[in-house]
Amino acid sequence: MPITDPEKLRIVLEHVFNVKICRKCGARNPPSAEKCRRCRSKNLRLKRYKK
Ligand SMILES: [Zn+2]
Repeated sequence: MPITDPEKLRIVLEHVFNVKICRKCGARNPPSAEKCRRCRSKNLRLKRYKK
């Protein structure tokens, strides 16, 4: 089912892309995370939606 409502699409994209990805193990962490919840590495990158 395609999402046609731009406002809903924006919210969905924020949830999908507003995460930090661990460079070491690839785990998804909350955007506020300082360390990876799986391997405790601080090597996190922010994955954000770009317009
Ligand atoms: Zn990790």
